[in-house]
Amino acid sequence: MFSLSGKKALVVGIANDQSIAWGVAQAMRNAGAELAVTYLNAKAEPHVRPLAEQLNAPLVLPLDVSVPGQDAAVFEQIRQHWGQLDVLVHSIAFAPRTDLQGRVVDSSAEGFASAMDISVHSFVRLAHLAEPLMGQGGALMAMSYYGAEKVISSYNLMGPVKAALEATVRQLAAELGPGNISVNALSPGPMATRAASGIAKFDQLLDHAVQQAPMHRLATIDDVGALAAFLACDPARNITGNVIHVDAGAHIMG
Ligand code: NAD
Repeated sequence: MFSLSGKKALVVGIANDQSIAWGVAQAMRNAGAELAVTYLNAKAEPHVRPLAEQLNAPLVLPLDVSVPGQDAAVFEQIRQHWGQLDVLVHSIAFAPRTDLQGRVVDSSAEGFASAMDISVHSFVRLAHLAEPLMGQGGALMAMSYYGAEKVISSYNLMGPVKAALEATVRQLAAELGPGNISVNALSPGPMATRAASGIAKFDQLLDHAVQQAPMHRLATIDDVGALAAFLACDPARNITGNVIHVDAGAHIMG
């Protein structure tokens, strides 16, 4: 019932074996999906390619969403190789360090715009390119965080950015639903990844999450992968427009 056999999935956001996207890609592969994965640039490629080989991914392509045309090139490769796409996972975010580590009220217009473009509008662009390849329907997913809902100390600029991402997920779910395409945000608890290392006092966030969560533990990239794989399966086709937390319950605590 919960098989991804025959499904083609594009996973964007693997930097290394700690990336949330890596947990997602492994879970989807284990469920039977065939994968296309991307790497940011030539510097990232040697870290990503061995992981792509473990996934037997037939497509391993460069994608920096801030480079015009690279996203379209990825989808053209997918069209030529598979002729269809069933699943798209967007697991990327960026904010310039000075804007990320300062107060939002002090953020620069350029920093704010660049964080929104790479972390939110890139999802819109990828969804736009995916839609024509999802004639049979499909599943789109993006990674959010609880800082979209509540002010989390030191999450700063990424709070409004993730709030915009979650609103975008709902809007895309409404627009793409008639085409049988689901769109969901996954909201993992804090995990020690490379992106997380740019957030000030991240260790305190991890400690707090363990104390706060009813289960008193951190969620893992494998937990996120399991949810993503399920959402990609046909039995999950009526689950759309949600923000689903994978955080050992931390978000329910006051
Ligand atoms: P990560 O560093 O492993 O992944 C971030 C990815 O973003 C990297 O692969 C990087 O190459 C990519 N990226 C950055 N700029 C890009 C660009 N211009 N074009 C293409 N790719 C670009 O860290 P992660 O924690 O796995 O982050 C993945 C997602 O999960 C992000 O959206 C992040 O906000 C979200 N998230 C992380 C946590 C956490 O605690 N780590 C919690 C909730 C949500």
